[in-house]
Amino acid sequence: MIGRTTPSPVEPDPFGPEHRTPRWRPAVKLASVVLPVCLIGWLGWQAVANSSRDVTAHPAVSPHYAEGDRVDADALPSDSPAPDGSPSASAAAPSSAPAGAAGTADRPLAGKTVLLDPGHNTANGKHTAEINRKVDIGNSHKECDTTGTSTNAGYSEAEYTLDVVHRARQILQDRGATVVLTQDGDRPWGPCIDERARIGNEAKADAAVSIHADGAPASGSGFHVIMPAKVVAGPADTSAIVDPSHRLGVLLRDAFKAGTGEPTSSYIGQQGLDTRSDLGGLNLSKIPKVFIECGNMRNTGDAKRMSDPEWRQRAAQAVADALTSYLTG
Ligand code: ZN
Repeated sequence: MIGRTTPSPVEPDPFGPEHRTPRWRPAVKLASVVLPVCLIGWLGWQAVANSSRDVTAHPAVSPHYAEGDRVDADALPSDSPAPDGSPSASAAAPSSAPAGAAGTADRPLAGKTVLLDPGHNTANGKHTAEINRKVDIGNSHKECDTTGTSTNAGYSEAEYTLDVVHRARQILQDRGATVVLTQDGDRPWGPCIDERARIGNEAKADAAVSIHADGAPASGSGFHVIMPAKVVAGPADTSAIVDPSHRLGVLLRDAFKAGTGEPTSSYIGQQGLDTRSDLGGLNLSKIPKVFIECGNMRNTGDAKRMSDPEWRQRAAQAVADALTSYLTG
């Protein structure tokens, strides 16, 4: 977590003209002692807040780069389920959490910004030329985006990821967070993986989670969390995010396993954790970020669970709980 101390509720504006009125002379004397102390405290808090913010306040990354999945990039049939017909206009728009507010018991994430990245796009299959364009991810070039996978029954990964993100967004907003999305079903395709990272960087989000589902051989099951490897190449430099992303990844692995009952992956990673250097969404991130492959859509059991709205709510709850633990721990 990027630590930020909780400020005392000191108002920085104690110098109104009424304090100089003679009939308030005793108050002036008291103020002459108390106010400088308050001012110093307030300035100190500002310094801490600015300092912690600077951790993520890197300039925008190069306009080049990408992301993608190792095994879930099976091409979705072009006649796959249509995009949801009611796109929201709030893509990439922050929620209404008050800026600069400090966390409270009811709203522990007040003042925090979270990036949620719904993997792929339901309409990518209709824009193959655009999403096949290569982008620079620092240590290589990859496709701008991919179609993602789907269950054998035709439930697409892109529909799944957007649904889970919507559910997680609500929980996080209820806890006071500002939630930024990379896409909200309102774009014709993409965004490209480099833009997905850039959106989080420019939002100066405190943490980011990219939601995916895998398309591995049907015999494999379970979920896994993907964390960034150290990559320093071209526009990529993950040096500053490797450690905090690992902490977020472990929290997410534990929360997801406990919250959904889904076992960790039987076919990839170790104990539900994997580290990769080939994902643009991680390579180009300047903010702590992990991916989660919530299950294998080609596996019968996983597909059944991921197709169940109640299970998706538990998945979203787990994502929100992990982010909350990370941001308040
Ligand atoms: Zn994916």
